Amino acid sequence: MTKRKDEMRRKWRPRKARCLECKRAFKVKRRGRAPSYCSGKCRNQAYWKRKSQGPREVAARTIQGIYDRAFVLRVAEEVVKILQQGGVIPAPEPPQLKPKPKAASPLRLVGEDSGDNH
Ligand SMILES: [Zn+2]
Repeated sequence: MTKRKDEMRRKWRPRKARCLECKRAFKVKRRGRAPSYCSGKCRNQAYWKRKSQGPREVAARTIQGIYDRAFVLRVAEEVVKILQQGGVIPAPEPPQLKPKPKAASPLRLVGEDSGDNH
């Protein structure tokens, strides 16, 4: 009974983990988040490696992210349109345009009523 529990716990929280950077096994503390690196040094190294992967990599990932989001948006729009056509959800009311009140310009033409009597 206890043995089984222990095994289950070990599954969730391994006592040892492999460092993602130097691939060495290291002991995991019993509390807190299970670390991915054996030391701050390795974590730092991995960070800089990631950083120096180059702007190309970063740009490619960013662009892919934009494409993904654009795709999701397009699908969502399509779904909304279909639901509106099917009468599942009400069609949006056209936006009501309020006429902008014409604000009187605080600027005045020079010499319009200040007499130019030279
Ligand atoms: Zn390491």
